[in-house]
Amino acid sequence: MLYRVEGLVIRSTDYGEGNKIITLLTPSYGKQGIIVRGAKKLKSRYGALAQLFTYGDYSYYKAGTLGTLNSGEIIESFRELREGLEGPAYAAYAAELTERSINDDEAAANLFHQLKACQNALVEGKDPQIVLRLYEMKVVIAAGYAPLLDECASCGRQQGPFRFSCNAGGALCTSCRHRDPTAIELDEIVWKLLRVFSNLDMRRLGNIMVKESSKRQLQLVLRRWIDTYINLNLKSRSFLDQWEKYGDMLGERMKRPEPLSETEAGDGMV
Ligand SMILES: [Zn+2]
Repeated sequence: MLYRVEGLVIRSTDYGEGNKIITLLTPSYGKQGIIVRGAKKLKSRYGALAQLFTYGDYSYYKAGTLGTLNSGEIIESFRELREGLEGPAYAAYAAELTERSINDDEAAANLFHQLKACQNALVEGKDPQIVLRLYEMKVVIAAGYAPLLDECASCGRQQGPFRFSCNAGGALCTSCRHRDPTAIELDEIVWKLLRVFSNLDMRRLGNIMVKESSKRQLQLVLRRWIDTYINLNLKSRSFLDQWEKYGDMLGERMKRPEPLSETEAGDGMV
């Protein structure tokens, strides 16, 4: 059967002599694996269609699990995301996270638009620490693991303060916090951001300024959440971590020591 879809390349691997297998994220058919014959040959018309992050119009034959590309056209190459070090590291993480979190043949229209918007936001130079956290939230929601943020996951109480518990499924109120000693205390602004992230369409993301300490809390929470519910062990994340650590080392001398955060300061008072 011949399919024609719009798709984003979320994985691209070499296959045999001169060929590639790509995984597309498509709105109607979720993930689709497609063989692109001759993609690695010089002057191949289809080489660019097989590159990671490409957004294109693909038509392919499919009988079994893998399709074979028949023809295609690039809509947007997202070339900027393949240049330098930073862009590829962030975009590769978003692509791998998507690829590993959703099932084949599962309609993914919303996630498709979110990933495209995520790639656009990275190209536009929006803060990757915000872009990726927002996208992580979109992925966990698409995978069916939205955290409870407005009420206690244990007793349903809507009044904070809350701590964030991965094991409990989100917010834990003061009376229930003993249920999870590993629950994390978050600044009020971080709770707000998490709530905004769960409702915000990535296509509407503007530029928001967020303090470094809040960004670290967001990263910690979403990372633990993903590790608890999706458990992926992503290659691209280890790379990103090393890369960010290296960046921190270089920036170390420039930084002043941070004042004690509200979280740490308020810890003994509860
Ligand atoms: Zn409770």
